[in-house]
Amino acid sequence: MAWDFETDPEFQTKLDWADAFVREEVEPLDMIWAGLEFTQLEGARRRAIEPLKEEVRRQGLWATHLVPDLGGQGYGQLKLSLLNEILGRSSWAPIVFGCQAPDTGNAEIIAHYGTSEQKERYLRPLLDGELFSCYSMTEPHAGADPTLFTTRATRDGDEWVINGWKFFSSNAKTASFLIVMAVTNPDVSAYQGMSMFLVPSETPGINIVRNVGLGAEHSGEGSHALIHYEDVRVAADALLGGEGQAFAIAQTRLGGGRIHHAMRTIGMAKSALEMTCERALSRQVQGSLLADKQFVQGYIADSYAQLAQFRLFVLYTAWTIDKYKDYKKVRKDIAAVKVLMPGVLHDIAWRAMQVHGALGVSNEMPFSRMMLGASVLGLADGPTEVHKVTVARQVLRDYKASDDQWPTRHLPKRRAAAQAKYAEYLEHEVGNL
Ligand SMILES: Cc1cc2nc3c(=O)[nH]c(=O)nc-3n(C[C@H](O)[C@H](O)[C@H](O)COP(=O)(O)OP(=O)(O)OC[C@H]3O[C@@H](n4cnc5c(N)ncnc54)[C@H](O)[C@@H]3O)c2cc1C
Repeated sequence: MAWDFETDPEFQTKLDWADAFVREEVEPLDMIWAGLEFTQLEGARRRAIEPLKEEVRRQGLWATHLVPDLGGQGYGQLKLSLLNEILGRSSWAPIVFGCQAPDTGNAEIIAHYGTSEQKERYLRPLLDGELFSCYSMTEPHAGADPTLFTTRATRDGDEWVINGWKFFSSNAKTASFLIVMAVTNPDVSAYQGMSMFLVPSETPGINIVRNVGLGAEHSGEGSHALIHYEDVRVAADALLGGEGQAFAIAQTRLGGGRIHHAMRTIGMAKSALEMTCERALSRQVQGSLLADKQFVQGYIADSYAQLAQFRLFVLYTAWTIDKYKDYKKVRKDIAAVKVLMPGVLHDIAWRAMQVHGALGVSNEMPFSRMMLGASVLGLADGPTEVHKVTVARQVLRDYKASDDQWPTRHLPKRRAAAQAKYAEYLEHEVGNL
């Protein structure tokens, strides 16, 4: 009997350490240096945060998703999932533990497709947390459908020349290099005609036109860049993987990225549920605690059940990724998790907000940020609708059409078949009457 829902005691000890460490040392960083997670560590921030990273390394929890050759522990996705549930509570925690998006996904594709020179130049410092990276794929006129991308890379002697526009390239303003997806052969299908390039940020021609913010962020505060690539020249060896391999590389990257977001979402949703419960047990209305009101009990029960369901699905999916070591084989479940994720966070954050009344919608509680975060999760790494199509297509692969005008399980048909199968006994029964 191989089903087992327990964490091994040795790793549980590490999780317990991480839980206390994040609460006591890391969550306070969110209160003083919010929004600076993806900027170079300097001055006071470097002095405060470097020792925390060191401590994480000492505990063997740095970049746990990576194999030991790359500086990680080779723990795999299931253990990362359990750890990410803790890290998801804090915006600084993934940085302190060396597993922040989008760098994890970017590191993964360089590890997988990069040459040894590319690994030395980009991967090492990325894994050491010394620099940040940017994934530049979406364009202003096209996101969900990459076959519409037009940013072009043309070969000129020993160089590639990139021209085009990209939109929502997160952290471009602080990244040391960008991974740019561009059309290299417009004469074949987009699936064979696009390639990825590793482009150092200081390359002439990378024009960040503006940094777009989310929700109520002030203009100029954002970190999602609109970029005009204008005659950006890179050496031939800037190509990541083979020419025409961009789609395959994107799938490797996004598979990991999506499930990592789901893991952190559990942490965020759990903290919203915890706040709901605390408030329900603290606030009196009309003669009793909110916790005694059936509506509020309903909120708590729904949030608890929704979170438990989602968590088991994420853990199961992480376990299957570890088992097959191939995101493609787990595509259906990764897509299904991605579909559920925005709804889980939205619903649990909304209930928390509602139970907190006016305080809940104020900027003194984190719920409106969580609600916006839920909407982001329904778009970043592909919109929910597209992932539903993937799930449905994958599910349908396991079925075939009925070879008859009636469904295979049509009751009259099954009854007739059952009667034919047991005709002998049925005749006997009739005879005995
Ligand atoms: C916070 C954030 C960070 C991001 N970071 C990055 C990044 O670092 N790098 C990067 O390259 N991109 C990034 N993106 C962009 C993201 O990948 C795109 O937003 C996403 O792929 C959707 O593309 P779009 O915004 O152009 O929407 P569109 O492609 O215009 O789609 C708009 C809407 O149309 C509907 N739709 C689309 N396709 C279908 C379909 N097949 N069937 C039914 N309905 C459909 C959906 O409702 C969808 O939301 C980020 C986005 C966000 C919000």
